[in-house]
Amino acid sequence: MSALVLETVFVHLFHLLRHIASLSRMQHAEPQHGEAEQPFRPETPMAKTLMDIGTRRIFSEEHDLFRQNVRRFFQEEVVPYHPQWEKAGEVSRQVWEKAGQHGLLGIFTPEEHGGIGGDLLSAAIVWEEQMYSNCSGPGFSLHSEIVMPYISHYGSKDQIERYIPQMTSGKCIGAIAMTEPGAGSDLQGVKTFAKPDGTGWILNGSKVFITNGWLSDVVIVVAVTNREAKTAAHGISLFLVDAGTKGFQKGRKLEKLGLKAQDTAELFFEDVHLPSEALLGQVNKGFYYLMNELPQERLLIAVMALASCEFMFEETRNYVMQRKAFGKTISDLQVVQHKLAELKTEICVGRAFIDSCLQLHGEKKLDSSTASMAKYWSTDLQNRVATQCLQLHGGWGYMWEYPIAKAFADSRVQPIYGGTNEIMKELISRNINLL
Ligand SMILES: Cc1cc2nc3c(=O)[nH]c(=O)nc-3n(C[C@H](O)[C@H](O)[C@H](O)COP(=O)(O)OP(=O)(O)OC[C@H]3O[C@@H](n4cnc5c(N)ncnc54)[C@H](O)[C@@H]3O)c2cc1C
Repeated sequence: MSALVLETVFVHLFHLLRHIASLSRMQHAEPQHGEAEQPFRPETPMAKTLMDIGTRRIFSEEHDLFRQNVRRFFQEEVVPYHPQWEKAGEVSRQVWEKAGQHGLLGIFTPEEHGGIGGDLLSAAIVWEEQMYSNCSGPGFSLHSEIVMPYISHYGSKDQIERYIPQMTSGKCIGAIAMTEPGAGSDLQGVKTFAKPDGTGWILNGSKVFITNGWLSDVVIVVAVTNREAKTAAHGISLFLVDAGTKGFQKGRKLEKLGLKAQDTAELFFEDVHLPSEALLGQVNKGFYYLMNELPQERLLIAVMALASCEFMFEETRNYVMQRKAFGKTISDLQVVQHKLAELKTEICVGRAFIDSCLQLHGEKKLDSSTASMAKYWSTDLQNRVATQCLQLHGGWGYMWEYPIAKAFADSRVQPIYGGTNEIMKELISRNINLL
């Protein structure tokens, strides 16, 4: 695509996203006398397919237009290249820049910070469309709606100006490094240590399983800054560490069961000197920031899980309609029809809950416990759907060339990262009044 065409696409999408954001600010106003009623938008159970555009009452026609563009982007710029990225264990840097040119990064980050300034639902469209394309390689969602919010919410003016516009353009790829070989679920066990040295900090430690880690240009690193704090949570801070900083080494890209095109990596920090401006937010407030931001991460995983269920259902529906056995198609068998009925019902029930969580979060009302329910339930559902859809494909479902095999492998990590589902239950139970 020529630079001029790309620029026109970007300007068009950019205005569309702004328009959607302003509409969603007005959406709670009662319709005035004489105003045309909105056309009925079917919910997914009533739609022809679970991935139809023009469905779900939380979205508008403007969102539909945006979704069409995003769908086209994934089909044209991601799907054809994904098999080679799976072999390489990383996506190309060009796809990041193309996503930036199409206005698909930093959608939910305010315009005044250098983001797109769109609404949450537009960001969710990108998450969903990525799952509908069955291409888990590009770590766009982590970059845009997990890493960028930390900088936008807690960063200084200089940090915001330095990173956000570059991240929105896809020229600077972001990662967040919490997990360590000895500390995953229990973040209070983090050992990476940042010691003040008069002019800044000296960082030592290592991180593991870091999404976008290999390609990252900037990493938010979780480190201990006060070993004597009354609890570990009171002595943790966040730092912005640039790739190329002396002493910061990227380890190998980790070989994984799924997410083959994602560059999950180990990171090592050996006497890394960080200037005082590398501190993100206030010293020793890191744990508090993490707790604030994790509900959005959990919602994002839940939304992607549900969209993956919808993709797998449609993939399987198409497969059983053409697969022949015993002189008829397997979709003629009642046992197959009933299995699809069960799957569709469960997915649509999940869809209703996830859409309500999206709506709540758009109004800044989603609490941690509800986000945890969404994450745990929908990622467990995703794995049940993956198992059953693969079964309906028979032996072909076990072959990598069949999309269901890839979706099955990609599903497995969802109950693990972003806080395991066991931890989600712990968080939910804390909010149940048992007295
Ligand atoms: C592909 C991938 C990408 C990732 N991306 C990132 C990233 O970008 N950044 C990052 O920081 N991390 C990332 N992670 C790490 C991920 O968040 C951790 O793996 C996860 O939090 C679990 O930690 P752990 O692996 O140390 O397991 P552990 O904490 O050792 O847990 C092992 C088992 O014990 C259970 N368990 C532990 N504590 C409890 C408890 N209190 N109650 C009940 N059960 C418990 C767990 O649920 C689990 O089943 C990624 C991981 C993967 C696999």
